[in-house]
Amino acid sequence: MRRTENKRDKEKQVVSLMIRLYCRKKHDGHKDEEGLCEECRAMHDYAALRADKCPFMETKTFCSNCRVHCYRPEMREKIRSVMRFAGPCMILYHPVMALRHAVSSIREKKRIAREEEIQAENLRERNSEQ
Ligand SMILES: [Zn+2]
Repeated sequence: MRRTENKRDKEKQVVSLMIRLYCRKKHDGHKDEEGLCEECRAMHDYAALRADKCPFMETKTFCSNCRVHCYRPEMREKIRSVMRFAGPCMILYHPVMALRHAVSSIREKKRIAREEEIQAENLRERNSEQ
């Protein structure tokens, strides 16, 4: 349970960092005390809310495929731009964090591929029994 909460906090931290980085480079104009414009603030709060409510926190890795399913479409597009932009920067600013993330993403992709394979296998078996 504690592990899950740590993970949740970590995910929120990383997403917040990426959005701030993105806003600093991409947006001018008024920024709040955390350096976010109004649009990025809304995305930031939305992302934190999603992380709070995520039922898959135990098993997933952050920015995982799960994100794609639980974000509202327009937020999904926005967060994708942030990830695309800030992803490579993370390697420069926070190499350890970025590396850990890359490793866990690969691991998760493999796990999902394996599960899909098992499902396909089960389906094939069921079909051949009929
Ligand atoms: Zn912004």
